Amino acid sequence: MKLLDLIEHHKRVNQKLQRKDVFYSFEIYPPKTERGELRLRKTMSKLADLEPLVVDITYGAGGSKNTGSLQVCKRAQQLHGLNTMLHLNVISKTRKELKELLQQARESGIQNILALRGDLPKEGTTIEKGLEHASDLVSFIRELHGNYFGICVAGYPETHPDSKSVEDDLKYLKLKVDNGADMIITQMFFDPQKFIDFRKKCREIGIKGPIIPGIFPILNYSSFKRVLEITKVNVPKEILQKVEELKNDRIKLVDYGVKLCIQMCKTLIQNGTPGVHLYCQNKYYPIMRIIEGLNLRPCRCRRPFPFRKSTIKRRNK
Ligand code: FAD
Repeated sequence: MKLLDLIEHHKRVNQKLQRKDVFYSFEIYPPKTERGELRLRKTMSKLADLEPLVVDITYGAGGSKNTGSLQVCKRAQQLHGLNTMLHLNVISKTRKELKELLQQARESGIQNILALRGDLPKEGTTIEKGLEHASDLVSFIRELHGNYFGICVAGYPETHPDSKSVEDDLKYLKLKVDNGADMIITQMFFDPQKFIDFRKKCREIGIKGPIIPGIFPILNYSSFKRVLEITKVNVPKEILQKVEELKNDRIKLVDYGVKLCIQMCKTLIQNGTPGVHLYCQNKYYPIMRIIEGLNLRPCRCRRPFPFRKSTIKRRNK
């Protein structure tokens, strides 16, 4: 089902079951190893139990070579009954390649695309000349496939680092929507007020569709540092200090990350966001705790390996 239809469908189901009318979506990435593959299978089955609006699968994020986003999407749909959204970036792809990828996605039953430019490769690397911006990809998809796909695009509460100005960045975000995008998912941020201000500015320039906050739960020190380097987003001093303090204690760091994420989501929900988008990092246990902590679903969270304290103690002996 397409994104906007899914939102309507969730609204009706939540009303019927007298549940809080807030949806959530989860981002996962294609695994790089066999172990990661096995872990993702388990993660997907646990995430499916939470009945997310959609699970979206990254494509070559952080400049990585894409391996298997389409396959992960297909598996999520066929084995776990999940609605999916495939990320697609234009970097280093010809129009012909993009056309083929879209056709494959359509033939695989995928109905939603997150249309992206992708991160620019390091200086000196040659880029295949195809489309230049995400707005071009949105037009390209609409030209080739009409309204078949639900299209989502990326928005930046702290402004995209390549942008000349806040106004410029918003102008190009509006262009993506005007070219046919249905919905916006944002880059991560660690101060909810940044999202609230950004959404207000979007509405002021006439952007109408859903704007969903992207939230990165801090679950691992090195992943946190890596995403800060890539995204260049700001982190309030007290959060940075706490993360540094807990960096050598995985259990406490995850506890802190989960609580911080719940607190941020609550603030955003109180401020009228219809849903939240969680960057899951291919993990399920902390994500279940977040959904449970928000009182959106009872999850019976049990601490899985390797987070049992007794196991860690035994291993350290
Ligand atoms: P664009 O919208 O093209 O914007 C890029 C820059 O160009 C901005 O500064 C913008 O203001 C400017 N701009 C836009 N249009 C024009 C125009 N017509 N003329 C001049 N300037 C313009 N990357 C991946 O590779 N794979 C992923 O799976 C992935 N998933 C993501 C998911 C989310 C929710 C988000 C927020 C980002 C994701 N990214 C991913 C990262 C993204 O690709 C990068 O942030 C990238 O640098 C910009 O992509 P974009 O789609 O926002 O680009």
